[in-house]
Amino acid sequence: MNNPLLEDFYFPPFSKIQPQQIEIAIDQRLAEAREIVADCLAKTDEYNWENLIAPIETAEDRLHRSWSPVSHLNAVLNSEELRQAYNACLPKLDDYATEMGQNKALFKAYQSIIASENFAQLMPDQQRFIHNQLRDFHLSGIDLSAELQQRYKEISQQLSKLSSTYEEHVLDATQAWSKLITDVNELAGLPESALAQAEQLAAQQQQKGWLINLQFPSYYAVMTYADNRELRYQHYYAYTTRASELGEHPEWNNSPIMQQILALRHEMAQLLGFANYAELSLATKMAKNPLQVMDFLQQLTQKVLPQARAEFEELQQFAQQYYHIEEIKAWDMMYLAEKLRQYRYQLSQEEIRAYFPLPKVLSGLFIIVEKLYGLQIQEINEFDQWHPDARLFVIHDQDNQLRGYFYLDLYARAHKRGGAWMDNAVDRRQTDKGIQIPIAYLVCNFTPPMENEPALLTHDEVQTLFHEFGHGLHHLMTQINYAGVSGIHGVEWDAVELPSQFMENWCWEKEALHLISAHYQTGEVLPNELLNKLVELKNFHSGLMMIRQLEYSLIDFRLHQEFNPNQADFITEMVNSVRQQTAVILPPDFNRFIHSFSHIFAGGYAAGYYSYKWAEVLSSDAYSLFEQQGIFNRQTGLAFLTAILEKGGSAEAMQLFKDFRGREPEMDAFLRHNGVLISA
Ligand code: ZN
Repeated sequence: MNNPLLEDFYFPPFSKIQPQQIEIAIDQRLAEAREIVADCLAKTDEYNWENLIAPIETAEDRLHRSWSPVSHLNAVLNSEELRQAYNACLPKLDDYATEMGQNKALFKAYQSIIASENFAQLMPDQQRFIHNQLRDFHLSGIDLSAELQQRYKEISQQLSKLSSTYEEHVLDATQAWSKLITDVNELAGLPESALAQAEQLAAQQQQKGWLINLQFPSYYAVMTYADNRELRYQHYYAYTTRASELGEHPEWNNSPIMQQILALRHEMAQLLGFANYAELSLATKMAKNPLQVMDFLQQLTQKVLPQARAEFEELQQFAQQYYHIEEIKAWDMMYLAEKLRQYRYQLSQEEIRAYFPLPKVLSGLFIIVEKLYGLQIQEINEFDQWHPDARLFVIHDQDNQLRGYFYLDLYARAHKRGGAWMDNAVDRRQTDKGIQIPIAYLVCNFTPPMENEPALLTHDEVQTLFHEFGHGLHHLMTQINYAGVSGIHGVEWDAVELPSQFMENWCWEKEALHLISAHYQTGEVLPNELLNKLVELKNFHSGLMMIRQLEYSLIDFRLHQEFNPNQADFITEMVNSVRQQTAVILPPDFNRFIHSFSHIFAGGYAAGYYSYKWAEVLSSDAYSLFEQQGIFNRQTGLAFLTAILEKGGSAEAMQLFKDFRGREPEMDAFLRHNGVLISA
């Protein structure tokens, strides 16, 4: 039987992938890569880019292209068989990475390239790639004794396994809870569209009534609209206790896993000579040391806290006056915020939604990037899909050059990981046959469309789409030809959210809103009155929103900076300690959000969640140039494209920013965009 993952494909053969063939394919790709490395090292002792780095990159790219569809399917179309195959490969991939990072002969070969006369002749992006590699040898334990190297390897393996288990628990716990409602009065307050969704969910399970579950669209609808306070409480309880000891399935409790992950990260950091994992994490970031990150977060917290408190105070008064709620609970927040929004602006999220049918938003987004960068985007109708929701698009630039492809998979469904993300399917790089054109996955969890109607997005969802599309452009528009520093590779992680948050700005501009909105029934563009209100809404509760992001950032960073292996309740204590400082409303004792905080326990944001705010300073400041020169100014757009998007990780993020902005980043635009009043 042929193994589709070992065939020479460009677009991944999703529909042909058999779980039982995955491990065989990965074994073979790993064996090939090991052989290439050994061959290259043995053939000569005068190493250079062509005889060492390029062939290894080619082998590792082949490995990546076989693995990427597996990892993608595991996230969007999870099954028991796939999960097993995926988990069987993880330690092997991890071993390979550690083995290369600790390969002394390879390390020496890299050193000899840097010391050689030819090094100066290499392109700056090649030089940066080699410098990054040398740094990563140290971060993989090249300097350790054989015994400690072995320990490093064990830690690294355990960490990837634990992260995978953490994510599985979140997915399983999310899927396990649902509630069938047979009396529609219990759902009073929910808009028609949300009721129809709940009815559709029930019908999919051959049940009569309305089904609510823990996928985000359902959670969002109940928390924002359900008048029934008890129902909101139940839903909130189920959502915030997922994968914890309070959930209905103690076997999915993430408590011991989080403790182990933190302990192993701490041990790894100390093995490598760092005081803690926060320091290790910053070795590959823009921020220079933990103090700088903590200063940044603390100062911002001080600035924002008074505003967040005032917003909450106002909400509390509103709740007492109109809803007879004496004390706002966590499960009242979204509900009351929506009521206040309606009261003050006479504008409901539901009303807004009718103006953002997905096809219009998408075509508007494409027009915006055409105006900015001259890009042309077309849909490709025939391709190998993993699910009927999957779509494929191609991008050409203003010179009609092919630049990349991206897949979209936008709607929430069972067996799909929550949240939204961009991932690289294929990287841009130079090959024997020419340039390999990059491919991206863009995944979201929007409310699915009802029969015969387009999906209608909330304005938050519109921003999410723009955000992920920004990441996508960073990966796809790169002109760097070495995979290690092309696209998002090699970019300091706290700068990675620059292109994504940058794109979100257009969601708030009148001229752009005209392009991305049209009433799904009448085709009418967003009337001026609504449009003005929407723009005004931008700063509604911005203090509360920002303080929550800062709380997450502080919890994440301090968990990694101050970890104490001898303190059993360290995590709970730390969460409480940060909340004492930041919370305007203390969440209930049962809230276990940290048990499903995948960003830091199963993603790349460990001691790096602060990156969102850090990079937002960059993205706001970059955007302020468009505010000055016109939001569709092609020249400014092309300058951003060439200085930032095309350069990937080929130079330091600070340098690229300065190339674009002509100076170091400043904070004013960031505060202004967030409606934070700078107190004198
Ligand atoms: Zn992002």
